[in-house]
Amino acid sequence: MNISKRINKIPPYLFFEISKKIKKAQAEGRDIVDFGIGDPDIPTPEFIVDSLIEESKNPINHRYPDSDGMPALREAIASWYDRRFNVKLDPSTEVISLIGAKEGVGHAAFAFLDPGDIALVPDPHYPVYSRGTWFAGADCHFMPLLEANNFLPDLSSIPKDIINKSKVMWLNYPNNPTGAVADEHFYNEAIEFGINNDIIILHDAAYSEITFDGYKAPSILEFPNAKDISIEFHSLSKAYNMTGWRVGSVVGNKDLISALTTIKSNLDSGLPQAIQHMGIAALNSDDSVVSENIEIYKTRRDRLISALELFGLEVSSPKAGLYLWIKVPSDHDSSSFTEFLLEKLDIVVTPGNGFGDSGEGYIRISLTTPDSDIEKAIERLESVNLNI
Ligand SMILES: *Cc1c(COP(=O)(O)O)cnc(C)c1O
Repeated sequence: MNISKRINKIPPYLFFEISKKIKKAQAEGRDIVDFGIGDPDIPTPEFIVDSLIEESKNPINHRYPDSDGMPALREAIASWYDRRFNVKLDPSTEVISLIGAKEGVGHAAFAFLDPGDIALVPDPHYPVYSRGTWFAGADCHFMPLLEANNFLPDLSSIPKDIINKSKVMWLNYPNNPTGAVADEHFYNEAIEFGINNDIIILHDAAYSEITFDGYKAPSILEFPNAKDISIEFHSLSKAYNMTGWRVGSVVGNKDLISALTTIKSNLDSGLPQAIQHMGIAALNSDDSVVSENIEIYKTRRDRLISALELFGLEVSSPKAGLYLWIKVPSDHDSSSFTEFLLEKLDIVVTPGNGFGDSGEGYIRISLTTPDSDIEKAIERLESVNLNI
């Protein structure tokens, strides 16, 4: 039997590999604290779950959904964008739902890339940008996100011959895994770059609602001419503790949305309608749930940063997102330090190089770990000091 070349080309999914390691350690009876994947530990708010219970009883929701989402969900997404960003969208042509942002991010490659095309992909990055590109038979040109440039790609350093073959550029701010945010200047520069070079901008805003210290993240669609060349992916997973329900969206340029809809309608039948109602309930709420979550993550962020600094690491405090992006001690690399934390302290983190070569020298700690586990990890960190 021979499986496809495209499968053999793809490295194993990072978190799948990490979860195998965790299971093995747990089977040995070790009490693992998991700072790996970003997956909110806080339950989905009750009013959102209630809408599922209610709607699941209605036979109208027992049949095939449309793959692009019910009009009521698309309208809820459009009004949320208007309220939150003052961005006006036509729910019938500029908005579709996704089976989680991950599904749309993966399928986008099939809508916009042909074999031989190039996708400009940040490095480090959410792995689906490169995996989707490779599945579609296209190639990635990685744009290093360096601390010296505030983890923004340097668009002026991309070689001309690469630009000529590039069809899309992925951007993701607030950024996973670095925790960086992008300012108005960068968004305007990226949009101009996209327009001048005929490169579609795919902006992943999965973390736009998780922000700290008074910072508010923009939508790329707030900036002039963005809708000419870009679409923005969004997700209810992180802001509303809904990773298990798979509700995402993509909005923006109608021709790009229509191309993605063609792929989706041929491959999937959309989100179960009762779950779409959960999305509507979340988006039409007063967002107090989101503010409560932010308070929890902020406390965890500050608590962990002080403990990690005492432990001997340098950690900068992110303005957004669910992650601490931390430089490993100078006598370690990403893998050896990840291994050290697992073997010595039973603590799981994600090695930075798992997100791309430029992530080498970092680890990522997720803030979606229960407080009691965080305290346990802090006690373990206090039992060791890197500087001694
Ligand atoms: C978590 C995450 C997503 C996926 O969100 P889902 O809606 O749960 O699929 C997309 N992009 C980034 C950068 C993420 O970290």
